[in-house]
Amino acid sequence: MRPLPIRLRLTLWYFAMFTAAAMLLSVSSWWMLRRSLMATEYHELQERAEDVQLLLKQMDPNATPEFLHQKFQEIYKIKDDGKYFQVLGQDGNWLYRSKRMIDVGLRPAVPGDLPPQGTIVEFHQGTRYVMALAYPIYANGHSYSVQTGIALNKSMVLLSAFGTELLLLTPAVLVLAAIGGHFMSRKALAPVAAIATEARRINDRNLDVRLPIPETQDEITHLSETLNQMLARVELGVRSIRDFTANAAHELRTPLALIRAEVEVALSKPRAGDEYREACEQVQMETVRMTGLIDSLLLLARADAGMEALRFESVDANRLAFEIGEKWKTAMRAAFLDFSVETSPGPMFVRGDMNALQRLLTILLDNAVRYTQPGGSVSLCVSGNGPCVLFRIQDTGIGIAAEHQPRIFDRFFRVDRTRGSSSRGSGLGLALAKWIAERHDTSVSVESMVGKGSSFSFSLLSVAGPTLSSTGVAEYSISRN
Ligand code: ADP
Repeated sequence: MRPLPIRLRLTLWYFAMFTAAAMLLSVSSWWMLRRSLMATEYHELQERAEDVQLLLKQMDPNATPEFLHQKFQEIYKIKDDGKYFQVLGQDGNWLYRSKRMIDVGLRPAVPGDLPPQGTIVEFHQGTRYVMALAYPIYANGHSYSVQTGIALNKSMVLLSAFGTELLLLTPAVLVLAAIGGHFMSRKALAPVAAIATEARRINDRNLDVRLPIPETQDEITHLSETLNQMLARVELGVRSIRDFTANAAHELRTPLALIRAEVEVALSKPRAGDEYREACEQVQMETVRMTGLIDSLLLLARADAGMEALRFESVDANRLAFEIGEKWKTAMRAAFLDFSVETSPGPMFVRGDMNALQRLLTILLDNAVRYTQPGGSVSLCVSGNGPCVLFRIQDTGIGIAAEHQPRIFDRFFRVDRTRGSSSRGSGLGLALAKWIAERHDTSVSVESMVGKGSSFSFSLLSVAGPTLSSTGVAEYSISRN
């Protein structure tokens, strides 16, 4: 079954609670009224019994039961015969019994069996509803049971009138509860409705708009704040996607423009074969650059979408450094750089994705080559660092100013954009390096000084490796010649 809307549920809850409270109040007030009426009647009856006690005390203490019977007949016969009234001696003989009591046929317990507060019986006689109290009294060393009754008709009429009025009030109370519930739920949900109206106005073009935050410091305030925080995150996400798209388009435009210009110049007039060849080489260079850029873009897009799965395994850190070093030594030589790879003497294994770690080291070495002038030096060093294995790529290149260092891992950030394509960079390398490091639960840190060089490092937890011996751990160096 579909759950009821919250407004209806609130109304129903309020209605139920209000009705229950009103019922409870009605029943308890009816019961309290009845109790106080009964208490009044009880005291009236008790007073009557105590009057009898007073009378008995005024009589001769040695008076015989017959005398007392005689006296009671004289006193009560005329005025109280029509009442519910009888007095029983401790010996079980009647001192007095009104005609009404004889008709009813009630007999109280002997005084010794009665509790001090007496006992009450209620009964109907004809149209009367009677309450009778059997009460023990003591006078001149004797005890008696006085039983006296009173018709409760007046009290009952009062009580039933009160009950009827309460019942008549019930529909009004129910209607009031329903109306109250409706208004209460409307009022309680009004801030939520206001938030919904505001939220409906927000779209992808005005993501900077924020919801109003009521000053009530309650759940609604909390809801608004949470939604605003979510909006801020969404805005940031959308903005970074937009920036990413705009930057990607811009970066792709540059090599495409160069290709186009190259081709247009080549085709503008008939040329010698060498000139066409040169143009084709330029075009090829630009397409290689574009392919690299598109690769990086694709990888970042897949990383953002969570589609880029890494395959973690035990990786020999020494071997990894050695193999990467082998790949780079020719390029280093071509760039006129001293290149050294230092590995650790003992076996060192880390948990990681071999291809991703190769890519990470390639990005850092590629930067080192591009930002170090010929004659400088680059080193790749793998060493143990407590429970970790530290990878460090150091160069003696142009360095990075302190104010740029926090931004170099941002997508498309380049310290010197003006160098454009000549720097062969797109500003995506370190963003990718950062992502790979994060996937390996680490981060790339940088130490750099302008004009002195840079050092990029990251450490990975070392793990027990396979029983293979690590090969190529020897330190070696390739020098420019
Ligand atoms: P790019 O493709 O432009 O090199 P990266 O993301 O790899 O992009 O690097 C971002 C910026 O950081 C570079 O443009 C460069 O200014 C700076 N940078 C990176 N590595 C080095 C380095 N080894 N020496 C000097 N500057 C560097």
